[in-house]
Amino acid sequence: MRRDVLKSLVGAGVLALSAGLAPLSALAQDKGLIAISMPTKSSARWIADGANMVRYFQEKGYKADLQYAEDDIPNQLAQIENMMTKGPKVLVIAAIDGTTLSNVLQKAADSGIKVIAYDRLIRGSKNVDYYATFDNFQVGVLQAQYIEKALGLKEGKGPFNIELFGGSPDDNNAFFFYDGAMSVLKPYIDSGKLVVRSKQMGMDKVSTLRWDGAVAQARMDNLLSAFYSDAHVDAVLSPYDGLSIGIISSLKGVGYGSAQQPMPVVTGQDAEVPSIKSILKKEQTSTVFKDTRELAKVTVNMVDALMAGKQPEVNDTKTYNNGVKVVPSYLLKPVTVDAGNWKQVLVDSGYYKESQIR
Ligand code: BGC
Repeated sequence: MRRDVLKSLVGAGVLALSAGLAPLSALAQDKGLIAISMPTKSSARWIADGANMVRYFQEKGYKADLQYAEDDIPNQLAQIENMMTKGPKVLVIAAIDGTTLSNVLQKAADSGIKVIAYDRLIRGSKNVDYYATFDNFQVGVLQAQYIEKALGLKEGKGPFNIELFGGSPDDNNAFFFYDGAMSVLKPYIDSGKLVVRSKQMGMDKVSTLRWDGAVAQARMDNLLSAFYSDAHVDAVLSPYDGLSIGIISSLKGVGYGSAQQPMPVVTGQDAEVPSIKSILKKEQTSTVFKDTRELAKVTVNMVDALMAGKQPEVNDTKTYNNGVKVVPSYLLKPVTVDAGNWKQVLVDSGYYKESQIR
């Protein structure tokens, strides 16, 4: 094994047994170990996802082993293999690359370990039992509807210039976000009310490997210098807050954000703290909130049902074909957040404290 992989395994491989507030009676039940593999700590949402799951699992009497792979595919694979040696009942995985886990999942199936794909679909394997996520197509629809409304496209305004960004091409969600957004934007592009000056359209041209904000920033720098030296960009479709922050840095770098050169509409996703702050500064325009507490609850309930020999609750059995099978799914509803409703959606619900934002 590579030394760096080994090192990070040792670093990340702490059993998350002590965190959380589970009553002793629940812990005493000891319903078994659940292995949780998360992609990265570089984005706050995954930290919240992991912490919420550990807490809810403990409350129901399970032990949880939570590991983060820092967006390194071999690292995630090694972490999952390592967790499997501890005899978990279920693997809950948010994959970095949804196509690279087939062998390890076969091993899991052979040992009777159930597998739940968390937030991101795991592709190319029959050994994915359930999928807990949000309505990912709807996330893209919400982002694009925000642009539609902010620009007044329905009222016939335009033409406006827009540039499009996509998420990581190894993440199945990225395609759903893009397709959802294009279901709203494409008619306006076809009619000429939205103009993509760069002509860069389609996930093969607009994707952003590993959801890396620096990659999005560099691409925006290039777009601005190649296509906007004598034109104004009016909207940027960004699928994730971390990309939006990079895109906004790039825009500010060439003078956007003043009365003569106003910021374009910039969307996002995850309602991360820096983006809510940016929205309040009138830089980013909107984001899409996905309540990770709810996703964690759905997942924990799925596991608990499975362990009790019952059918977990699902609400979609058509949409998520992973290339081998349609994975029964539970889809939660995403919510648009902007300067008008952030307090109500994020603070009143207890997701953030107001002091975290301002
Ligand atoms: C998640 C998004 C997140 C993105 C980057 C996607 O799979 O659904 O919530 O913004 O990954 O972490």
